[in-house]
Amino acid sequence: MTADHIFNIGILAHVDAGKTTLTEMLLLYSGAIRKAGSVDLGNTQTDWLPIERERGISVRAAQTSFLWQGNQINLIDTPGHVDFAGEVERAVSVLDGAILVISAVEGIQSHTENIGRALFQLKIPTLIFINKIDRAGSRFEEICEELKQLSFFQGSTILPMNLPKNEGSKEVSLAEIPNQKEKLIEAVADYDDEIAELFLEGKEITTEKLCLSLSSCVEKRKIFPVFCGSAQKGIGVEDILNAIPRLLPPASRKLREGLSGLVYQIEYDKSMGKIAHIRLYGGELHARDVLPFGGSSEKISQIRKFNGRKYTDVGTVQAGDIAALCGLSSVKTFDSIGNFPFEHYSLATPFLSVQVRPQKEGELQALLTALQELSDEDPLLNCKWEKTSREILLSVTGKIQIEVLSALLLERYGLKADFSEPSVIYKETPAGSGYGLDRYTMPKPCWAVVKLKIDPLPRGSGVRYDGGKVPNNQCFYHYQQHIKKSFFANLQQGPLGWEVTDFQATLVEAEHHTIHTHPLDFFVCTPMALMKGLVNTGTNLLEPILRFRIHAPIDYLGKIIGELTNMRGKFDTPVTKEEAFTIEASVPAATSLDFPNRLAAMTHGKGSFFSNFEGYQEVPLHLGKTAERRGPNPLDRSKWILYARGAMEDMAYTLV
Ligand code: GDP
Repeated sequence: MTADHIFNIGILAHVDAGKTTLTEMLLLYSGAIRKAGSVDLGNTQTDWLPIERERGISVRAAQTSFLWQGNQINLIDTPGHVDFAGEVERAVSVLDGAILVISAVEGIQSHTENIGRALFQLKIPTLIFINKIDRAGSRFEEICEELKQLSFFQGSTILPMNLPKNEGSKEVSLAEIPNQKEKLIEAVADYDDEIAELFLEGKEITTEKLCLSLSSCVEKRKIFPVFCGSAQKGIGVEDILNAIPRLLPPASRKLREGLSGLVYQIEYDKSMGKIAHIRLYGGELHARDVLPFGGSSEKISQIRKFNGRKYTDVGTVQAGDIAALCGLSSVKTFDSIGNFPFEHYSLATPFLSVQVRPQKEGELQALLTALQELSDEDPLLNCKWEKTSREILLSVTGKIQIEVLSALLLERYGLKADFSEPSVIYKETPAGSGYGLDRYTMPKPCWAVVKLKIDPLPRGSGVRYDGGKVPNNQCFYHYQQHIKKSFFANLQQGPLGWEVTDFQATLVEAEHHTIHTHPLDFFVCTPMALMKGLVNTGTNLLEPILRFRIHAPIDYLGKIIGELTNMRGKFDTPVTKEEAFTIEASVPAATSLDFPNRLAAMTHGKGSFFSNFEGYQEVPLHLGKTAERRGPNPLDRSKWILYARGAMEDMAYTLV
């Protein structure tokens, strides 16, 4: 199979829209399986972790492949719960195209918007499947209109490809769109001059030409074709199946010269250890090939092709395809293979922290090892061992993720663990511009001078470093590399104890001494200069903010607005329809962690609510929290120098 005939397609949706059912039906229609499993009975191909079967939710992105009209279609089914946005982010990064599934009844939900935004940012060509048109309350046309309102579809065309007949009833079927060819020509002509000319001159446009032009508009994300159907009843499945090779771009469009690939997911297998799911963009890999990971060379022991939980040993993988590599023990999610340049797009920001403790004494080490392994699979977990407090800390996005982690620990490692209540991860940012200077010239032998200029950046910018101003004769470039490395390694704890973000640092002065400078002096000096700088500028506390969308009967409007105000929420004007209202609000995570429970109690279960992470915003110190310093503080100069000079065994923590 060449890359011209391979399609790596993601199926994405808000939870419950029907993507697992659709995946199952695509496999059935293509002939890959003889009988469709059911999510309701817990026997589908792609949901196979016991917890997924029990709860009926997808947690891990799973892969399946099948042949259709001479093409190999690799389907990546992704989890739809916001708590697993990290999994979605990883899967999206390797797609050629996507199918966005939306329920015809529930419509666009907050996570649908999140996914839509990620697909937009990563420029992934997308087909839309409006599912469940058999259910009462199905509203195909309304949803097409709502799609047009989404900011990331503006400037492009939402183009229905079929219509429901007897919508919302058991007798539902599909109808063709009247004058479909003319409508397609009109849509395409907006973006394709050649078609526009032929159309204006009244000349014949062949179906083949039209189809090619349409697929090019889909590839450029100018047109988003919308299909409707009922995955459960097998209606519309064949249409969307045919549309994959016809309208979405093949893997060959992303082909690269030389060996090039990306690890987009790590799984752990009891007998094989780590399994790295990769997409190859160029070259080929064979079992027994050696790849460099984590500073060492590792041999691929086996190459697998997965179909849900089943796999075949394929021995090799070609450019364009996805596969799973075994035998690489140091590999991590998002590692590059060969010359692949990876740009990380972040969909998920874990803004909660939990402490984890073993239930049985003596299992601390086993728990730490297990969590570090899970952290290799999901780097966002960011497992940390706090030496001073002897605590294991994890970053998470929600309570369901904690439940899943706890189930995974038990299933895979036989470990019972207690998780603390999640607490909010704050950040801090410089309050203004200023300088941080440190001259580390005593006690000899030592010599390092570092002066940094600090300037705040807008929210969400992250940290930038400009190190190009100091000549080599004042400070050797390799020492300047130490400064940069040490700078980035010491952003975890600012003066308030939180990660420092949204600022630019410029190295304005640096000096070494040909005789006195010891090779590691800049690792001692830079954290002191940085912390002094942050004390000079002062820092403001930032807190995570969530975007809520609440839907409830109108009688509860007053109560809910009262709650939102109590939580320091900022809300938009509510939209009322019939006897219900929808209100959107931005609410601090710190005040709203138990809001889902409060809402259920307040509305007797009649209110529903979606939330997703919006970003970090300033909060007065008295409404937030500072964090206690972990490890020595660079502002405590003599202790810091002693520590940084002497504690070489702690290099991993402070210096490197
Ligand atoms: P996912 O969470 O997006 O993977 O959704 P699932 O495939 O697990 O489906 C969620 C629920 O919707 C299940 O109970 C399905 O049986 C049901 N479902 C899926 N597709 C349809 C459909 O076309 N019509 C109806 N009425 N129910 C459906």
